[in-house]
Formats: sequence, structure tokens, C-alpha cells
Amino acid sequence: IYNTTRRMAFMKTPCNIGDPVSEVETPSLLVCLKSLEYNLKKMTETMKAFPGVNFRTHAKTHKCPMISRLQIKSGAVGVCCQTLTEAEAMVEGGIEDILLSNQVIGIKKLRRLAGLARYAKIAACVDSEGNIEDLSQAARELGVTVDVLVEVNVGGNRCGVEPGDSVLKLAEKIKSLPNINFKGLQCYNGKIQHIRSAADRKAAVGVVIEKTVKSIKALKDRGIDCSYITGGGTGTFQYEASSGVFTEVQPGSYVFMDVDYGKNLDVKEQFVSDFQQSLYVLSTVQSVAAGDRAILDAGLKAHSLDSGVPKLSGHPDLTYYNGGDEHGVVIPDGGLKVGDLVWLIPGHCDPTVNMHEWVVGLRDGKVECIWPVSGRGPGK
Ligand code: PLP
Ligand code: MN
Repeated sequence: IYNTTRRMAFMKTPCNIGDPVSEVETPSLLVCLKSLEYNLKKMTETMKAFPGVNFRTHAKTHKCPMISRLQIKSGAVGVCCQTLTEAEAMVEGGIEDILLSNQVIGIKKLRRLAGLARYAKIAACVDSEGNIEDLSQAARELGVTVDVLVEVNVGGNRCGVEPGDSVLKLAEKIKSLPNINFKGLQCYNGKIQHIRSAADRKAAVGVVIEKTVKSIKALKDRGIDCSYITGGGTGTFQYEASSGVFTEVQPGSYVFMDVDYGKNLDVKEQFVSDFQQSLYVLSTVQSVAAGDRAILDAGLKAHSLDSGVPKLSGHPDLTYYNGGDEHGVVIPDGGLKVGDLVWLIPGHCDPTVNMHEWVVGLRDGKVECIWPVSGRGPGK
């Protein structure tokens, strides 16, 4: 067991190394190691088609340094994190190159961020002048240098300044202050990852690229060279990678997959279905008393329902219905009996993982490893 933090050391694991799957207490998060390894290899091979473009895997998906280490071993240049807690967990787990693909607000948090730069290469995204000033101050206090990316609103309408002159203004601000280094642009649109039709998804990336190119031009016109452009997730990364504009992509979910990504429609040159489902929530049937339904011990506290209900692996004719915090309702009952194990394919992998303390790695039906989800928690 990799108890990489003391905080985790006293927490009870749901099983022991070497246990058969029948011994794993439920509900638990399982990962099929063969499928995980397949996905790692698939990403390495896929990215070979785009020389000069790196992949920096997103750790928000698993919040687990051990999985980041496997991703780096398979060719990732580093990781992205969405929260400071994830970044701290990654540094503790030995990850040496981290991009906070998000804004970190307030001097207290920025000191934590700058503190990490003592141990690892750290970059962060900004979209406001005050935040740039605070980041420079925190980095100066700690005697470190932090790389900074301007986040561009490339259509997601979340964070990021509008393409063009606003990007230039922030880049110039970064360049004017000490202990921070203008590194490039964050150009990610999360919404388009799940556009079902591959043609529409590709067209949506076209808009991302247009807005990115506009921003690069605004910088270039003022003599600022921008050689680092990062973005793209599991649904679109091949389009960004083949654009000639992006130098890095940030896929996360590919390592686990989920029901939502399974709904993306592919065409021949598409890729999402090339990844295998490796993540499951293991649950137990706790009641069949009603006679027409089976009740599972995994409810909405064991997996996230934000992108729809889970599927029952190996039971395509059975449907999961929300049964509340601790229950799942399966109709029809499909002959399930009390005590039977059911492998649920989560609707949405990232928030599901966040609910669990441990990822149990299985190979050939036996527990091979138990990894702490040490970066878990809300965005702190
Ligand atoms: N990059 C950023 C900034 C993200 O917010 C996310 C996920 O939301 C990703 C990359 C990874 O996306 P996915 O898990 O769909 O591959
Ligand atoms: Mn997601």
C-alpha cells in the first residue's frame, strides 16, 4: 500500500493486496489495470502522430500521484492540476512539472503555490492584473520563479480574457513584474469535449484555433513570441494536436473513461472509442425484497450523477435509477441476488473519483495495488 501521506496513513483501506475482488468492501473505486495500461499505451502511440506536440495529462481525473507517475513514464511531459490541493499531492508524490490550469486567487493560496516551486517546476494561469501582481509578490517572498500562462476565453465562457488585445495587455503586465515568467497561453474549451458528432467537435475546435491564432498575432505584433500553447481534452486533443498551433494537449479522462465519453460518436479517423473503460464503482446487491428490482449499496455518494446514471457492466439490459445517497435501484432485477457484486461504469469519472479515498487496482481478479486519492477534495 502506497501511504504517501501521513494524512492517509490511518485511513482504512477497503481490502488488502492479493485479495480476490469478492473480498473488496463496497462501494469501492476499482481500476482494471490492464485497461489502464492499454489507455496509457494508446495515448503514447496516438501522440507519436504529432511530432513536436507534447501531452501533459490532467490529474483532476484521478487526483492520484501514482497514476500521474505512470502517465509520465508513458511519455507525458508533466501534469495539469485544477486545484492547489491536487498540485500539493502531486509534488508530495514526486511529480516535477505541474501546470495549474486554473486561477489561484488570494495571497495565502499564492504563497502555497509559490512554495511548491521550491520542489517542482510550477506554472499557473491568470486572467486578471491583480492576480498577476499577487503572484509576483508571493513568488518574490519565497524567492522562486513561477511560469505564467494567460488564459484565453476560446469559447467556453468560463475563465479567460477575450482573444486579442486583452491577452497582450496581461502578457505585458507579466513581463513587467519580477519572479514571474510569461510562458504562453492556456486555450481550453471544456464544453466542446462532449459534442457527440465528431464533425461538429472538429468544427468547434476550429473556433478555438481561430481565437488562439488571433491572440498569438496580437502578441507577435508587439514583438512577443509565444511558443507554448496548451489546451484540449480527451474529446478533442487530436484536433488541437494536428492544428500546427498547439504545442501541448491536456487529456485527463482517457485514462479511465466513463458513460458520458462513451456517448461521443466517432468516425473513422476519430479516437475516443479507442480508449477502454478502466474505472468502476464496485457495489453489492443489498436487497431484492420487492421482487421486481434490485437495490445496490452505491448511491449518489459513491458516484457522480451530474452527467447521467452509471451503466451496469456486463448487464446491458438492466437500468440504474437514482435511489438517493446510499442506494441505487436496478430495474429489472436481472436475477441479481443479495450479496452479488455489480461493477458500475460511472457516468462521469472525475467527480466520482473525488468521492473516494482509495483506488483499488485489480489484475486477473486480484488486488494488485491500493492507491490513495491524495489530491481529493473540493477546490481548495
Ligand atoms: N484541461 C482542463 C483545463 C480541464 O478543465 C480539463 C477537464 O475538465 C481537462 C484538460 C481534461 O479534460 P478531459 O478529462 O475531458 O480529458
Ligand atoms: Mn470531466
